[in-house]
Amino acid sequence: MKVGILGGGQLGRMLLQAAADYTVETHVLENDPNCPAAHLCHHFHLGNIQDYDAVLAFGQGLDAITIEIESVNIDALETLEQQGVKVFPSPAAIRIIKNKITQKAFYAEHQIPSPEYLITNSLEELKSKEAFLPAVHKIGEGGYDGKGVQVIKRKEDLDKGFDAPSVLEKMVPIQKELALIIAVNTKGETAVYPPAEMVFDPILNLLDYQVSPARIPEKVLWKAEAIALKVAKSLKSAGLFAVELFVDHDQNVWVNETAPRVHNSGHHSIEGNYCSQYHQLWRIILEYPLGNTDPIMPAAIVNLLGAPEHVGPAVYEGLHETLQIDNAFVHLYGKAETKPGRKMGHVTLLSTEYQDLVYKSNKIKHLLKIVSKK
Ligand code: ADP
Repeated sequence: MKVGILGGGQLGRMLLQAAADYTVETHVLENDPNCPAAHLCHHFHLGNIQDYDAVLAFGQGLDAITIEIESVNIDALETLEQQGVKVFPSPAAIRIIKNKITQKAFYAEHQIPSPEYLITNSLEELKSKEAFLPAVHKIGEGGYDGKGVQVIKRKEDLDKGFDAPSVLEKMVPIQKELALIIAVNTKGETAVYPPAEMVFDPILNLLDYQVSPARIPEKVLWKAEAIALKVAKSLKSAGLFAVELFVDHDQNVWVNETAPRVHNSGHHSIEGNYCSQYHQLWRIILEYPLGNTDPIMPAAIVNLLGAPEHVGPAVYEGLHETLQIDNAFVHLYGKAETKPGRKMGHVTLLSTEYQDLVYKSNKIKHLLKIVSKK
């Protein structure tokens, strides 16, 4: 089978690493010839994933196509689907998720618990919503890695909002943030990964470290699984879906957002679960049986972000020391240039003891630094 991936970032790179285990010819479309996935695919195609003609030309001649990012040309994917190319997930599912406004409407329509919200079309309109605060403003389209999200606690924060169609969502008193990956095959069968528990960096607003399986009461696990399954099934599409959830102080579970693709919250599944999320997506695309999602051992992920104030060719300080740690698995994404906060790699840790995972996560955060060449 000839399979294309739209986007050539680290998710595409890890998807391609798993592809090497199957008889599949891989193609990548991306406009950066030095992107993380460029050198691991059989055929690299230079082009813009948001351009109709580029995506159409890329998809014609392929058996199937998948995405590693949502900001793709959905019209072209719809045309390809009509022409018989299998698209994972369906263009209709990507369309719902791509815009936070349609995503929120989808949750409401399917009675999936997600924080109360309203829509604002301009900054002017946002300023009239003081009574709805404290809230979180989320730009409809184009936000990623926390860049399309602004916390609006009080009246004085209203200026920080987006002057574009956006969702204004009630602030949830978060006790825990979870992410749960669901696999759906073409027969509609599902497989559920154990949830991961995230801890965020309040300054960079990027994932800091996470542990999986999450330490949550069984009742919360059941709710989280039921809600994530409901999201995946309601999208009526084969594919892999990562559902991000909030648990509040009353143990209620709310959907934050869904990603219709392999997800950063599932990196640890490469070493930590019998079937990684990347292998699972190939099983779905190639129509093989779904794999075992059970954990082999509890795992943690530490993201390796570019150090503050360092811009330029990347240098990895503390790599030798990190590789000396038992069951620490380093993944560098092959990005030549570092920038403050840029996702440059991650380290997965495995241990039977959660305390050990937390201790080693913190150790690696202080040990391993991505700086620029002087
Ligand atoms: P992105 O798509 O950029 O990852 P998210 O929608 O996941 O953005 O929001 C980023 C973070 O902002 C969340 O992980 C959470 O910590 C916080 N956040 C988002 N929505 C809410 C909310 N309704 N209440 C409280 N915190 C929120």
